[in-house]
Amino acid sequence: MASSDAEIIRSSVREFAESVLRPVARRIDAENSVPEDIIRKTAEMGYFSMRVPEEYGGPGLSVQESVIVVEELARVSSAVAIMAAVSGSMVATPLLYYASDDLKEKYLKKLAEGGIGAFALTEPCCGTDAASITTRAVKDGDEFVINGRKTFITNSPYADFFLVAARTGKPEDRHRGISLFVVEKSSCVEVSKLDMMGYRGSGTSEVLFNDCRVPEENLVGGLNEGFKIVMDALNEGRVVTAATGLGIMQAAFEEAFEYSKQRQSMGKPIIEHQMVQAIIADMKTLLEATRLLVYTAAAKIDEKEPDYPLWSSMAKLAAARWGVDLVRMAMQVLGGFGYSKESTVERLYRDIKMIEIGDGTNQVQQMVIVKSLLGKIKPPRR
Ligand SMILES: Cc1cc2nc3c(=O)[nH]c(=O)nc-3n(C[C@H](O)[C@H](O)[C@H](O)COP(=O)(O)OP(=O)(O)OC[C@H]3O[C@@H](n4cnc5c(N)ncnc54)[C@H](O)[C@@H]3O)c2cc1C
Repeated sequence: MASSDAEIIRSSVREFAESVLRPVARRIDAENSVPEDIIRKTAEMGYFSMRVPEEYGGPGLSVQESVIVVEELARVSSAVAIMAAVSGSMVATPLLYYASDDLKEKYLKKLAEGGIGAFALTEPCCGTDAASITTRAVKDGDEFVINGRKTFITNSPYADFFLVAARTGKPEDRHRGISLFVVEKSSCVEVSKLDMMGYRGSGTSEVLFNDCRVPEENLVGGLNEGFKIVMDALNEGRVVTAATGLGIMQAAFEEAFEYSKQRQSMGKPIIEHQMVQAIIADMKTLLEATRLLVYTAAAKIDEKEPDYPLWSSMAKLAAARWGVDLVRMAMQVLGGFGYSKESTVERLYRDIKMIEIGDGTNQVQQMVIVKSLLGKIKPPRR
């Protein structure tokens, strides 16, 4: 991607984030909810449909452009950023690469028109062990009937539809018996919002699917082929999730660096003390190293390089590990003020921990990295 394109996108998202999100970012976290007008304005900017091509009315952003959008949103509001990452990438991408033309026409357009999608894989029984999910989809005539409980599902209260992974084969078929469906929000879908530590406002919820009838046309990809599609969605999803971590890291760095120039100790700004300088230097290094990995992984997906799962997991692991380290350092620079609710870094400290868990824990990324090095991960077929 030409750097001038990236900078145009960055400055327009930054302007939106500063003018629209900054005034409400603290309220979103405190109330665990994004106000309706903010959702509408974000949708109008096309952030919830980032990867939807122009032919369906979307902005048609590349992965490289999407990570810049998400990074800039997260610099101000991690909640709105992860909402965009899920709807605009993790939901849009499987539809784009694997759905029938009719489904694309209907649901990619819905996203482009301001709709929001949610990605429902995790269940109370199983997150890492996603091949063990128990939500069932049973064929009945020309419909499937879906029953099951999902948990930690981002976007749920705001979503118009869900991409739901459900078992269509036997439990012992594990990943070979899972299919992916589009399920519209209706009375058969019960959403219960969870009180999470971070990314508050992004609508993390438990979702009950109770006898939801969906037409067989709502199957995304082939029967029992859902797991591969989900894994591919996660390959890209991990990079956009890492980009939310990158935005949080940028915000923490800015807050700590500014504070270090203002705060006086022993007759001089604390940045003049060598031990504080060492922290700031480490923070800047971790920030830029993460940025390089996230951008490289995004470019590899755009270029369809077969090793992109490796890079996507390395980017996610870096944003998680180094993100948690960096925000902890930022809080150290801010001292007692950093530990108070008056600082922004207090929220960032709660937010960044999610990157070590969501979209596959650090341990999962380590598994993918080593499996990739051993040649055990096949390139996705997109
Ligand atoms: C804020 C937030 C938003 C989320 N949004 C979504 C969403 O939109 N959609 C969705 O489907 N999910 C979502 N999730 C769920 C998330 O993807 C899971 O929490 C994650 O995959 C971990 O699963 P788990 O919580 O069941 O942990 P577990 O799988 O129970 O893991 C517990 C611990 O055991 C370790 N572990 C488990 N198995 C192994 C193994 N085989 N080898 C080594 N270590 C192992 C894990 O690394 C972890 O440390 C979200 C989670 C959070 C916190």
